[in-house]
Amino acid sequence: TVTVDAPLPVLGHEVRVPLVTGGEVPYAALDYAASAPALQRVWDDVAAYAPYYGSVHRGAGHLSQLSTDLFENSRATVAEFLGCRPGDDVVFTRSTTDSLNLLAAALPSGTRVFAFESEHHAALLPWGRRADTAVTWLDAPRTPEQAVDALERALAARELHGPALVCVTGASNVTGELWPVRELAAAAHAHGARIVLDAAQLVPHQAVDVAELDVDWVAFSGHKLYAPFGAGVLAGRADWLRRAEPYLAGGGATRSVARGAAGEPVVEWHDTVARHEAGSPNVIGAYAIASACRALTAAGFERLAERERVLLGRLRAGLAGVPGIRVISLFGDDAPRVGVVSFVVDGWNSSHFAAALSAEYGIGVRDGLFCAHPLLRALLVENGGAAGECGAPGEAPAASAIRVSFGVGTPEEHIDRFVRAAGELVRDGARWSYRTEGGRCVP
Ligand code: PMP
Repeated sequence: TVTVDAPLPVLGHEVRVPLVTGGEVPYAALDYAASAPALQRVWDDVAAYAPYYGSVHRGAGHLSQLSTDLFENSRATVAEFLGCRPGDDVVFTRSTTDSLNLLAAALPSGTRVFAFESEHHAALLPWGRRADTAVTWLDAPRTPEQAVDALERALAARELHGPALVCVTGASNVTGELWPVRELAAAAHAHGARIVLDAAQLVPHQAVDVAELDVDWVAFSGHKLYAPFGAGVLAGRADWLRRAEPYLAGGGATRSVARGAAGEPVVEWHDTVARHEAGSPNVIGAYAIASACRALTAAGFERLAERERVLLGRLRAGLAGVPGIRVISLFGDDAPRVGVVSFVVDGWNSSHFAAALSAEYGIGVRDGLFCAHPLLRALLVENGGAAGECGAPGEAPAASAIRVSFGVGTPEEHIDRFVRAAGELVRDGARWSYRTEGGRCVP
């Protein structure tokens, strides 16, 4: 085991990667916003449970009973972690994307959804796909106050009948900026709308309290919360969920299934949380999420956030010292944000820059449009990208940005190595030239 100066041990610090310049270095994972490494604690918990797992809600055997208890206790742990209200449902899904699609499928007929165009595609695209619902995208705001104003105006202008839903992010996956969730929730409710919080980038960094924020639902993914892939959560108001058609049809979601007199199916669906969890559930995924919730709560978000602010300050100061690097943001330099920073480098192709960080320094970052094309297009143009290159509809997006993101497993050395690498690359240029091969940028 490699010892690092991070508050919570994560997997992966042993991984060494070859450098194109020769030799190898410990890998610096600076792409937590895409997927965070699993906490050692989560891995240990899952390993300890692995010999005991059995099917959930399906067996009389001891291990099935144990797994059912574990699954339901995991649900209770997540409800507590999120500060859910009595009566709220916690549905285990596959991911944030899955959670928001589930909610979209469960909307009452006639619902109009409002979302800012700056959202991640997972929070932009599920809405309005049903013929009996509609979606309005709002301009990306330039201040948190503008976001609240714009929402107020859009809701006030809508016809006053019919259900409405607002979908907002808690922290942007592009800029890391925090959104005024409490104020947006108040605006939504003042106009009789409901609100769902995309907390994919928020829960790894801050305590989220559904009741206190007064949001109706919250969605997040396990793999960004230091747990493995394949499990996510949709938590919140039970009424719309329990009245809706089941998201998936199959075993576990039904109370009774019979063949009617004319050979037709006669199905009675559960009106509990099981309604939207058809099929054998991902008990390991749910347990891993619950384990991560417990570990983060025990470590204390205040303490974790304090250290994150220090690392973020170091990263921002380092980037500010490199000429030609432009950090992209909606709300401006001083806006509060989590450990996610995106930037462009004058005169550099972002893919080449990211490839050089990997090949020459063993640093893993992300480059691209981060599944937020409307936002990236606008911010790239504003920061010197050529409009034509930024992916007009129908074109392959050529220009892109670079994103550095970190979390509770990040040692200072990773941040310092990145800042030094960025400075060297900008000053000296890459020692190698980079080209695109099979969609990947390689030396
Ligand atoms: N919303 C935000 C803000 C995200 O960052 C992501 C993942 N990049 C998602 C939603 C989608 O998460 P997943 O891919 O786990 O469904």
